[in-house]
Amino acid sequence: MSETILILGASGQIGTELTQKLRSVYGNSNVIASDIREGSEEVMTSGPFEIIDATDRETILKVVKEYNVTQVYLLAAMLSATAEKFPQKAWDLNMNSLLGVLELAKNKHIKQVYWPSSIAVFGPTTPKQNTPQKTIMEPSTVYGISKLSGEFWCNYYHEKFGVDVRSLRYPGIISWKTKPGGGTTDYAVDIYFKAVETGNYECFLSEKTRLPMMYMNDAVAATINLMQAKPADVKIRTSYNLAAIDFTPEEITLEIKKHIPDFNVSYTPDSRQEIANSWPSSIDDSEARKDWNWKHKFDLASMTVEMLKNIKK
Ligand code: NAD
Repeated sequence: MSETILILGASGQIGTELTQKLRSVYGNSNVIASDIREGSEEVMTSGPFEIIDATDRETILKVVKEYNVTQVYLLAAMLSATAEKFPQKAWDLNMNSLLGVLELAKNKHIKQVYWPSSIAVFGPTTPKQNTPQKTIMEPSTVYGISKLSGEFWCNYYHEKFGVDVRSLRYPGIISWKTKPGGGTTDYAVDIYFKAVETGNYECFLSEKTRLPMMYMNDAVAATINLMQAKPADVKIRTSYNLAAIDFTPEEITLEIKKHIPDFNVSYTPDSRQEIANSWPSSIDDSEARKDWNWKHKFDLASMTVEMLKNIKK
């Protein structure tokens, strides 16, 4: 399959790893990474890189034409905890970037769009356990409101204009290459770094807060699987529920202690606790498993082994 891919927001937590995986699949020169800031050395040197503001439609169109881009992956966004501090900016970035990319596809400059949603589309009135694909959705955060609106814009462009846009509701993504960018599930990355670096961690969520999570390798695999699925198999054009594991700070601590027995965690919940309380604790992703054969690989134990091994390096 020959594609030329433009990634907007490639220097972030997910972009750093998705860019490298896409380059290994489609060829280094066929994956153009872009962001408003420079990325990791690997991303900057292994293929093309452009400084692009994801809301700058003119520059995006110029780059799309210059490279004959066929797919855009839009990863630039303001995440949950930061968006609560800058609501207007978060809305502007999260919505205008998406509408610009959907217009590009509507006007046939590109063939396919990937745009991630989040478990933040759910809210305090959503059933918490095994949250279904279709359920009550009354998000209480700026980030969640922007993601839920975005999902329906995607569906609208698909229904009205035949745009091939695909989306996943990521849970908290855990990785070691690039630090996360201001989300509510960031503790599950920080905790591994602190376990290795100092042996102590002060957690900003309470010990019993259960949230859906996923190791980065699974998130990247799911993204590429969905983008490569036959159009007819992609039956949901808002966004697919996607799940792998769920755990509490207490449970991840116990898992780390199997490797670092003296690891010590204290709990000082801050404003992010309220956001976490409004989100599901586990997700039913049976539609993704049925429609395009989604399967996760990493559980809490195997992810912990990978995280500690790589951070120690
Ligand atoms: P991140 O914050 O780590 O990265 C976002 C990147 O976007 C950053 O490199 C930033 O410099 C860039 N950016 C910000 N403003 C920009 C602009 N105007 N133009 C171009 N680039 C800009 O975020 P991430 O964790 O990599 O998330 C990627 C996507 O996945 C986002 O849409 C996010 O909402 C979604 N998501 C992430 C998680 C997670 O746990 N990481 C969970 C659910 C959904």
